[in-house]
Amino acid sequence: MDTQMLIGNRFETGTEAEEQIFNPRTGETVLNLPEASAAQIDAAVDAAEAAFSTWARTTPAERSGYLLKIADRIEAEADGFAALEALNCGKPINAVKNDEIPAIVDCYRFFAGAVRCMPGNAAGEYMEGHTSMTRRDPIGVVASIAPWNYPLMMMAWKLAPAIGGGNTVVFKPSEQTPLSALKLARVMADVLPEGVVNVILGRGESVGNALINHPKVQMISITGDVATGKKVLQAAAKSVKRTHLELGGKAPVIVFDDADLDAVVEGLRAFGYYNAGQDCTAACRIYAAPKIHDKLVAELSSAVSTIKYDQGDDAENEIGPLISRRQRDRVASFVERASEMKHMEITTGGKPGDGSGFYYQPTVIAGALQSDEIVRREVFGPVVSVTRFSDAEEAIGWANDSEYGLASSVWTRDVSKAMACAARLQYGCTWINTHFMLVNEMPHGGIKQSGYGKDMSLYALEDYTAVRHVMIAHG
Ligand code: NAD
Repeated sequence: MDTQMLIGNRFETGTEAEEQIFNPRTGETVLNLPEASAAQIDAAVDAAEAAFSTWARTTPAERSGYLLKIADRIEAEADGFAALEALNCGKPINAVKNDEIPAIVDCYRFFAGAVRCMPGNAAGEYMEGHTSMTRRDPIGVVASIAPWNYPLMMMAWKLAPAIGGGNTVVFKPSEQTPLSALKLARVMADVLPEGVVNVILGRGESVGNALINHPKVQMISITGDVATGKKVLQAAAKSVKRTHLELGGKAPVIVFDDADLDAVVEGLRAFGYYNAGQDCTAACRIYAAPKIHDKLVAELSSAVSTIKYDQGDDAENEIGPLISRRQRDRVASFVERASEMKHMEITTGGKPGDGSGFYYQPTVIAGALQSDEIVRREVFGPVVSVTRFSDAEEAIGWANDSEYGLASSVWTRDVSKAMACAARLQYGCTWINTHFMLVNEMPHGGIKQSGYGKDMSLYALEDYTAVRHVMIAHG
């Protein structure tokens, strides 16, 4: 197992406090990893800065070639990467192999193509005797900071457009899930010129904080909690750094009476609980129309009670545990507080799993009201609430009545109703008769307190590059 950080072309062990890395399925410690010192953080930023002047001048075709090599290596070593994600996050191995790794490989391949066809405006004479053109150029050293729910995928979403756009990166994985990033660091060191990607370890309040305040960092890209995003903005304000923020979510799901109930139940069973609900787009806040409501609660509860987890044969598992004991206890406390309110009913689940792993039972909470904490706050666990609405106006109003604005969905057989509803939802994404589906060609990102950075798609390349004007006076 790779345990060392990548700083320039050197592999180094951190010299500071150790972080315990757990196997969430068993609650056992896998290993302890020390975090980077201030000198190691500086060295990583210096290596990225030194690499920038050469890397920024490579052609799109050259950078495309590097991205393709990274994709090929991840594909060739898919089993090893998947095993680490399964160990460190508790994800079912088949979910990593069949869902995540192909999407990660495709992300690098998408950006390998996209960097070669970045759209630009035509040049022209906008002042007599002068020709103007616009360019998109890299920004400099990017500090990239990732969360624990999809370690390798978040790394792909951040690294591929950043280095594809000609930037160099100092990457910090979540202190809870560094293992796949350390393996990928080996690949990066083999494939890329020295210093283009550096990987350092540590907690948010120490290493993360040093990175976001570093004078040589020109841009901060972070996926995480809203509170962390706010700290990034405060740090960025001191030296006016660019920021790319992907923060939390609390996705509303509007189910109209004419929806295909079987498809809704199947969709919610899958997309409300995937990755044990530790997903910022999880279909967790259901608004059900009056006639479909009771059937939906009954059928969803029965379907959710069959979700397989904590089975000895991992091939049978549909979801894994939560990432940590702390996260499991946090989820449990949300459900406990909800269960104390008389108007809500836990129709399935509602308890931590047996044993020492960090499991929580897939849970449905019926009778939730718009004002309830369970409807308003991000739980980030396998918990879905259902709220009855009376008409479309009320459903859209409640869906938009949130600090978050990342993802949403509408379920109906009426195309006009779906489009009218989608047009009014204040979310970065609205799915119709599905949820959760992402493709590398399309942007993923939020509005409101979910942040404003766009991952994937050409919009990510725009985020990681600066528009410049060059004007030539005719001789
Ligand atoms: P978190 O905010 O605690 O941590 C995210 C990363 O930020 C970690 O690497 C952490 O070490 C670092 N960090 C924490 N404090 C920091 C500080 N003061 N300075 C610099 N870095 C700091 O979030 P998490 O618990 O790892 O992840 C869960 C959150 O991420 C959820 O809120 C979820 O919705 C969000 N998320 C959003 C998206 C999206 O695309 N919008 C995707 C995945 C997760």
